[in-house]
Amino acid sequence: MRSSGRRIGTGHSPFRIAAVIFSAWNLFSPQDDIKLGKEVATDAEGQLPSCNAPRVDAYLTELGRKLIAKLPTGGVQYPFEFHCVNAKEINAFALPGGFVFVNRGLIQASDNEAQLAGVLAHELSHVALRHGTSEATKAKAAQLGVDVIDTLLGGNAGGALLTELGRFSAGGVLLRYSRSAETQADVMGTQVLYDSGYDPRALAQFFQKLEAEKDQNPPEFFSDHPNPEHRVERVEQEIVKLGGQPKKAKKDSAEFEETKREVAALPLPRKEMTASGSGPVPPAGPPPAPSSNYADYQAGAYTVKYPDNWRKYGDKDDVSFAPDGGVMETQDGHAGLAYGIIVSVTKTPGDAGAEKALENATQQFIATMQKDNPKMKIVRGPGRVRLNGEPGLSTYLSNESPAGGEETDWLITVIRPEGLVSFVCAAPTNDYDKYDHVFAAVLDSVRFQK
Ligand SMILES: [Zn+2]
Repeated sequence: MRSSGRRIGTGHSPFRIAAVIFSAWNLFSPQDDIKLGKEVATDAEGQLPSCNAPRVDAYLTELGRKLIAKLPTGGVQYPFEFHCVNAKEINAFALPGGFVFVNRGLIQASDNEAQLAGVLAHELSHVALRHGTSEATKAKAAQLGVDVIDTLLGGNAGGALLTELGRFSAGGVLLRYSRSAETQADVMGTQVLYDSGYDPRALAQFFQKLEAEKDQNPPEFFSDHPNPEHRVERVEQEIVKLGGQPKKAKKDSAEFEETKREVAALPLPRKEMTASGSGPVPPAGPPPAPSSNYADYQAGAYTVKYPDNWRKYGDKDDVSFAPDGGVMETQDGHAGLAYGIIVSVTKTPGDAGAEKALENATQQFIATMQKDNPKMKIVRGPGRVRLNGEPGLSTYLSNESPAGGEETDWLITVIRPEGLVSFVCAAPTNDYDKYDHVFAAVLDSVRFQK
């Protein structure tokens, strides 16, 4: 089973000449960047351990927005998103289209807000300069020749690359930057820092610090972002061009220090996922039995309880709950949920109160799932049920399990003013009896906002 992620919007920013100088050969369109980045980001969200700290994500988003306001995107509106990853390695990455993942280790290693802003400005510059798909273009062209790649892409660049590589491994190709791309991101990042009032030296200072510490603590960051020569000198040159070191440059904030303390106090995740993007480690056996203690989750449209030894993936109205070992890599390289529950709220066209609205929306929802899960079939239903007093539909489906063999999916759908609320409860068919009562308890705990 697959689900999808969330996004925030942003305004676009004034154009800067630097972007013209740097526009590189790229057979993808900015819209491809967004589509491709979103696909990979959805898988990354499913596979990387989240900090599960909404305040930290909000802080990163706010800091990111300050920088985006000064980022020259050539008028393209990217759906920027910022996620805190619960991994202690010093790293961050930005996917095409502006999906930014920041390891807690990076926040902890930054001495002040300006240094963190420097790394974000560098990452956002890779997005604005569209380095991911530019490098992918070069890689594909070298392998196949330009004519072939032109035909292959034919208006659907993202799709072709994804089909070929599998979504999550496409991430690797999109994040392998050249040294010249690094210099460009440093230069634009310095401009963005300068324009947003931060100490423009902070970016170079942070990289210098990582470089100095690399023998004891080799930072993951340099494996995706190779250190270009004369990095610090190049940044200093840029500051001179911009008019010299500003007198009143912002270095730190109370919010940064508070965020750093909050991040330092987060428990580290249990190790069944790796944080470096190499995908989940296959679990040793079936997941541990669900706990009989329950944790609470509050979404916009409902609240729900789930076993407190399960983890929550995703956020807001698009969230999954799964035991350790419940999320696995599918045969085609996607993240699949073998055990657990996916809850989503899907906007429905038309009036939620209309006759047959629930039936129609449910049918459409099943059709969408079948597109992502081609082996999925309806086994039983839909039949009428009530969930927290609301009329709902119950449908049983079968599918191919990421754990191998067949899986049973119990789907409950309810229509609400926010849209169709769907609960997909999944387990391998052989194990389903062990989970049935847990799924029922979770569904019983659902409370819709009145
Ligand atoms: Zn870089």
